[in-house]
Amino acid sequence: MRAPSNLFKYALIATSISLVSGCQPQPQATATAAEAPNIIFMVGDGMGFEFISAYRYAHSQLGAGALTPTVFDDLLVGAATTYPDDATWVTDSAAAATALAAGVKSYNGAIGVNAQQQPITTLMELAKQQGWGTGAVVSVQVTHATPAAFFTHHPSRRMYDEIADSYAQQVSAGQWSFDVLLGGGYSHFDRDDKNWLPELSAQGMQIATSVEQLDSLEKTPVLGLFAPLALPHSIDAEPQLATMTEHALRLLSKQQQSTGKPFALMVEGSLIDWCGHANDIACAVHEMADFAQAIEVVLNYQRQQPNTLVVITADHSTGGLTLGQGGEYAWHSDKVMAIKGSLEVMTRGLLERQPNEFRDYLSPLLNLPLNDAQWQRIESVQVPAELTGRARQAPFAGVLVEIISEHTRTGWTTTGHTAVDVPVLAIGPGAEKFRGYQDNTEIGQRLMELIQQQ
Ligand SMILES: [Zn+2]
Repeated sequence: MRAPSNLFKYALIATSISLVSGCQPQPQATATAAEAPNIIFMVGDGMGFEFISAYRYAHSQLGAGALTPTVFDDLLVGAATTYPDDATWVTDSAAAATALAAGVKSYNGAIGVNAQQQPITTLMELAKQQGWGTGAVVSVQVTHATPAAFFTHHPSRRMYDEIADSYAQQVSAGQWSFDVLLGGGYSHFDRDDKNWLPELSAQGMQIATSVEQLDSLEKTPVLGLFAPLALPHSIDAEPQLATMTEHALRLLSKQQQSTGKPFALMVEGSLIDWCGHANDIACAVHEMADFAQAIEVVLNYQRQQPNTLVVITADHSTGGLTLGQGGEYAWHSDKVMAIKGSLEVMTRGLLERQPNEFRDYLSPLLNLPLNDAQWQRIESVQVPAELTGRARQAPFAGVLVEIISEHTRTGWTTTGHTAVDVPVLAIGPGAEKFRGYQDNTEIGQRLMELIQQQ
């Protein structure tokens, strides 16, 4: 509703500048009014306020009496509710992404469809219709709920192969729904029943299977698939989100130079949520750092190209994270930062070893002063024979979460999502539209209004 006033604002600023300077009044006013801002929409998956708090404390010196500033601090403008169109207040990533991408409440599991399972136009589709560049950068498979809901329409988030098929098919002659799509998910595009990659290459899509390959690419369209499924956790490997974001901005800017049209880019810090589901605090704080680095890249771009609106939010919070647990007035951020691996890696490592090897293996990774009783709890874990695959890690993970909580005083209430409000951060032209309390659908609606006005 407030978008038209913004459009008028551009026109008015342009006109008044023209009147003051007295040069080229007519063409300049028109050209400036038509210059829609680029939109960079960043989603911290599962990034409730408490995750920003954890990141802030973890990167500050405990006991120093002052906090180290973070990239989030100056950008905060409001908060959003996240509930889905179900008889629950707790959303999943699909319903939340559909709300953010299309401004419509839907059911948990919905990918770009409404409650009647009908496809609904997303902001990326609207942008494409206006000739804008579009793209997404994620640290999970590109077929996962958040990116999928911005570009595709499916009744269920579990339709990963069908989502890959949607991405692979052109939406009009020589045009895909995206110009740049970077993340994981190779295995959904190259699978037993179908390998899209040679076909896509033949049609002009440039395909990269390592982040380094992006260095040699100079134009869109680009599909970068850097892992069979999700990328590794930032605590276990070189973080990639910021680098991928730099490449996406470089490629979309080049396209913008030739088309004269803005772009809409979605960047997701996807794995914050996965660490939350795993109740893995060290993992979560490192993913927050990875997301913060990507935000730095975006803010640098925004400083150079001020006609860029950056909006950052979360789809929901995950895990019921609390900083302080067990009645003690303490949260030991220094011990959190001492941990050197994700629970995913540690529990896999334990499964490959005998109990008498556990201490040597785990000590340098956990890096916490475990007492004998705590070691014995880990050594006496029994993995039931009926468990298979990743489920075999769960008995070890349960004990490690308890022990890490005892040392760091981190609390978790669930391995799922929660219904708490999430932060909204914004900077650039139109940022004021996201101020105060809002629902997640309003974020999507306001972004779509902004695209539609142009
Ligand atoms: Zn999510």
